[in-house]
Amino acid sequence: MTQNKLIVSNWKMNLKLSDSKKLVNILIRSVEKTKPHIKKIICPQFLLIPNISNLIKKSKILLGSQDCHYKENGAFTGESSVQLLKLFKCKYVILGHSERREYNTDSNLLILKKIKTVQKYGLKPIICIGESIELRKNGEYLDFLKNQLKECVPNFNDVIVAYEPIWSIGSGLVPSFEDILEVKDFVKKYLVEEKKIKKVSFLYGGSVSSENIKGIIENSNIDGALIGGSSLKEKEIKEIISIFNFY
Ligand code: PEP
Repeated sequence: MTQNKLIVSNWKMNLKLSDSKKLVNILIRSVEKTKPHIKKIICPQFLLIPNISNLIKKSKILLGSQDCHYKENGAFTGESSVQLLKLFKCKYVILGHSERREYNTDSNLLILKKIKTVQKYGLKPIICIGESIELRKNGEYLDFLKNQLKECVPNFNDVIVAYEPIWSIGSGLVPSFEDILEVKDFVKKYLVEEKKIKKVSFLYGGSVSSENIKGIIENSNIDGALIGGSSLKEKEIKEIISIFNFY
């Protein structure tokens, strides 16, 4: 069976309602004829989710969120619950994004708790890992990534990991194909051998564009991409989807 290819749009805190609807309608049309193993997932900010959920109802687009709380409900002012995400037909939740690790309190332990809650409700976590430029330069990045996996990933059958080097996010800098491949092989080996996980999907994220994605797919053998900036530009994201559709 052909392995699914996940193209995940992380819109972050961008797009007004009108712009998001316009972009979704374009995406609905561009995935109409894609191969069945191409899965297009949109992760809008929370307030857009009900509208987008309604818009994509009859399409091949899937919905995800950018985070959630680890408790189902309760006195957690300003937080969002996985129960509601499920109600609005979210199938995926991005967890452990480096922006949440940096600007909020998302530690490995907290991310692990969130992952467990998300799984309990039958949604799929997209678990983000990634090193700083300092760790990359001094050669300690694999140890760092291993520790993130060790502390964040619980034992379950089917894991999606998004490797997003912090220095690559939004910077236009992309690791070499060999560097991505090295991390991919490392992540898969660790999760299969140490955590006894049966299926690992490896996504790459960080300055993905229509210019570089073909090379990354062909040389680093990824199972998909997590895309920030380029996912907001209709021409870019359409092109990226059509490139994935070749594979
Ligand atoms: C991200 O933050 O998830 C991301 C991949 O951003 P960008 O594509 O803009 O580097």
